[in-house]
Amino acid sequence: MSDISFKIDGKLCSAAPGQTLLDVAEKNGIKIPTLCGNPKISKTTSCFVCLVKDCKTGKFLPSCAARPSEGQEIEASSPEVLDMRKTALELLLSEHAGDCEAPCTISCPAHASVEEYVRAGRNGDFLEALKIIKKRIPLPMSIGRVCPRFCEKDCRKNVSSKPVAINEFKRLAADLHYESYVEDVPALNGKKIAVVGAGPAGLAAAYYLRLEGYEPVLFEKMPEAGGMLRYGIPEFRLPKKTLAKELAHFAKLGIKINCGVAVGKDITLDELKKSYSAVIVTIGCWSSSSMRVKGEELAADGIKWLEKVASANWQGLKNPGTTIVIGGGNTAMDCLRTAVRMGSKDVSCVYRRTEKEMPAEAIEIHEAKEEGVNFRFLTAPVSLKKADNGRLVLTCQKMELGAPDASGRRSPVPVAGSDFDIEADTVIAAIGQKVLPLEGIPLNKWGNVEVATETLKCNADGLLFAAGDCQSGCATVVEAVAGGRKAALAAIDYIEGREHKQPRLINVSRGHWSSLSKEDLVYINKPSEDARIEAELIPMDKRTGSFDELFPTFSKEEVMKEGKRCIECSCTAKSDCKLKSYSEEYGANPVALKGERNSKAGYDARHPHIVHDRMKCIKCGVCVKVCSEVVNKNLLSQKNRGFHTTVETAFRTVLPLSCTECGACIGECPVGALDWKNKKN
Ligand code: FAD
Repeated sequence: MSDISFKIDGKLCSAAPGQTLLDVAEKNGIKIPTLCGNPKISKTTSCFVCLVKDCKTGKFLPSCAARPSEGQEIEASSPEVLDMRKTALELLLSEHAGDCEAPCTISCPAHASVEEYVRAGRNGDFLEALKIIKKRIPLPMSIGRVCPRFCEKDCRKNVSSKPVAINEFKRLAADLHYESYVEDVPALNGKKIAVVGAGPAGLAAAYYLRLEGYEPVLFEKMPEAGGMLRYGIPEFRLPKKTLAKELAHFAKLGIKINCGVAVGKDITLDELKKSYSAVIVTIGCWSSSSMRVKGEELAADGIKWLEKVASANWQGLKNPGTTIVIGGGNTAMDCLRTAVRMGSKDVSCVYRRTEKEMPAEAIEIHEAKEEGVNFRFLTAPVSLKKADNGRLVLTCQKMELGAPDASGRRSPVPVAGSDFDIEADTVIAAIGQKVLPLEGIPLNKWGNVEVATETLKCNADGLLFAAGDCQSGCATVVEAVAGGRKAALAAIDYIEGREHKQPRLINVSRGHWSSLSKEDLVYINKPSEDARIEAELIPMDKRTGSFDELFPTFSKEEVMKEGKRCIECSCTAKSDCKLKSYSEEYGANPVALKGERNSKAGYDARHPHIVHDRMKCIKCGVCVKVCSEVVNKNLLSQKNRGFHTTVETAFRTVLPLSCTECGACIGECPVGALDWKNKKN
């Protein structure tokens, strides 16, 4: 028989008898994805990810099985075909239930590889842990102390016990190795980028620029770098000595920080735009929101008050006397706890909603209460005046919670005739911060720097990017460093004339821990239930009478032991899962199609070395054929039909003795439903 001539994507191709469309496409460099197509076995034609279109009939064909015919015209890359493949992937994803990535990593705003650095720490290799952490978190000493621990809030360990103390790994890894370890950086490529502001976002942008060979030059208006880490977060949560060690690391990498240079005053943005390949703006939120009450100018401004205290380096600080702090966020908590440490015996917080609605971290509220702070919930300021005795009088009114507003939060409503006065020596307003505008930087309706979400590029002339609090609104250090890194990568792409796109990462989740029971976690082969390490805070008299750090860094042994509590919930095949990589390539959405997932399909860990996770199985049948056609054993078969199909051994026994553990089925499974046990150790 002679060869067949036909076209794929307009390209004339020839097929030998018996060749499939997929074979010919591959030979001609046309990429078609497939999950079940495997040259080692006969056709399975089960995944339909390899669809192509026959232009004449208008029919979609699985290219792994369809054979070309003379004169046929095949579309393999048209938007319609790509869309059909995306749908095929979404169908497979709709029942696939296997956490691609551990929830801790997903919920970390910087997407640091938590499971991997916890594993390195558990094995005692904290230098390796530090290297993994720094791929996403360039300020591990500070973040290891002040992070609100997004990762721990989503840790699967919450189902049965307390979350793994993940943040302690960052803190210890940095404390152990930060002074001796300096990463290798490439030679400078001659391109300079200006970074305005040396807070967490600016420092992160500079760090990732330097790692790529660019020269970041930071301009910082304050005498020292660090942003709110230096001038906001108090000494007892982040000692200045610790921050200094962390900042010294930037100098070791050759990163220049020009402190005491206010952009817009000492140098203009236009001058920076002319002299640098790009400018990244990370100016934070350094202006306090107004309370809109009469006499508010008599109140100290929360962030300025903390800045003054921080600049005094805790020396000779005057007791602020009876202190009232208005607000319910972290800044308010830091003002309250600082006032306690400055010697005040009467410190209270005035907040207009209830404790439940307070934006401050629960731990901060709890510790403030322990330190003697009095909380007046459902109380709002009305006016502030100076009494004849020189003291301040804050008039407040009682509030009650009304109907939920558009955001779902119940708004506080004044209770008529409930006004009352409180006398104080110091009143501090800490109700929120916003961006201090910088000429040439556009702000959006929320008062934050306006950027295109995908690119972080400002809607202004020139290569101007923004990140951190000034772009997101007041957030957290880990969010700021994540933003700084993104802005650095976006700036590099623009400088190099490349289109910048955020990486498309998909994650299939078995569900949030709050929707799971212990039984749902049978797939985790590590039922460690030992207690979480808990920080022992310094004695209360030291806590309230000094600015000493709240608790010391845990020892290596303690953190290694804590690492054993990690149940490692991410998929063992996350780095080579074909379903994941194709889904990312095609932009498939794991939750586009609703339906019952395989989450109850079962997990078989009876075999000493092999696990069989039916929840991940996409029923492609490759393992069944590999075992029979390649290994010449028939140990696996498909049972039931349609949605209820599962791969089983005869009589659902554990893999029989005749299995030689050759690993052929594991090697060919496209999604890790069959895998080696303890692969991650
Ligand atoms: P910033 O840290 O504000 O840094 C901006 C920098 O830009 C500053 O150094 C500033 O001086 C500089 N700058 C501004 N304008 C100019 C200019 N024109 N020219 C040159 N330089 C300029 N987050 C947590 O994760 N955990 C916590 O416990 C926590 N506690 C907090 C407590 C307080 C009191 C405050 C205020 C914030 C807290 N945060 C906390 C939030 C966190 O500090 C911020 O989200 C983070 O610092 C934002 O980083 P950034 O780089 O965007 O901004």
